[in-house]
Amino acid sequence: ALAARDLYRFFRTGEEETLALRGVSLQVRRGETVAVVGPSGSGKSTLLACLAGLDEPAGGFVYVGGERISHRPEVQRARLRARRIGVLLQSGNLIAHLDVRENIRLAQAAAGRHRASAAPEVAELLDGVGLSGRSRALPHQLAGGELARAGLAVALANDPDVLLADEPTGELDGRTELRVLDLLKSRADAGRGVLVVTHNTEVVSFADRVLVLRDGRIEP
Ligand code: ATP
Ligand code: MG
Repeated sequence: ALAARDLYRFFRTGEEETLALRGVSLQVRRGETVAVVGPSGSGKSTLLACLAGLDEPAGGFVYVGGERISHRPEVQRARLRARRIGVLLQSGNLIAHLDVRENIRLAQAAAGRHRASAAPEVAELLDGVGLSGRSRALPHQLAGGELARAGLAVALANDPDVLLADEPTGELDGRTELRVLDLLKSRADAGRGVLVVTHNTEVVSFADRVLVLRDGRIEP
């Protein structure tokens, strides 16, 4: 469903240069769940942004469903992302002045007609993340864990081929965490690819593969 080859990403802040990614290659196959773990600053969020086409790697390629998403104009990356990718960022992915339901509908509209007709219902998405009854809430009215789950519902609104999620179980209690785990499992069972950045041992133990990122490289 998704493949990345030899990704490089540098950041320059003043005099300092950070090598956030140094030659990362990976694959997420259909029906597979991949967990990415690694210390803070190892490049996990940078990797996710490059995979989602939100950021451009300095070198290397990213393919989603056979189409290249890296090294293309931003509009094309956005269009491909809207159709094929669901992404949950650490910083959140909701539009502040739209309520949860409107955020979901917007993601479905951006995915295009064909995709939207097959898309799950708003109620179904919210039930999946345990947020039924919060569809009219604005992002700032949600608690931290609720915000992450609303973000997950939005990420799944286009029924993506690949879900890319940064710490989806970050601030959740045990029961809600299980619910999110179930949701991730059901994505893989439906033949979709899932890649999660996580420190959560439950998520790590259910993943088909675990990649360890350290200093911008995947450990062998
Ligand atoms: P965490 O577990 O704390 O979320 P991470 O593994 O997600 O960490 P990244 O956010 O990918 O780490 O950052 C990797 C490195 O790149 C860090 O050294 C970080 O300071 C640097 N970095 C990330 N984004 C930028 C940016 N926009 N400008 C400059 N440096 C950046
Ligand atoms: Mg991060």
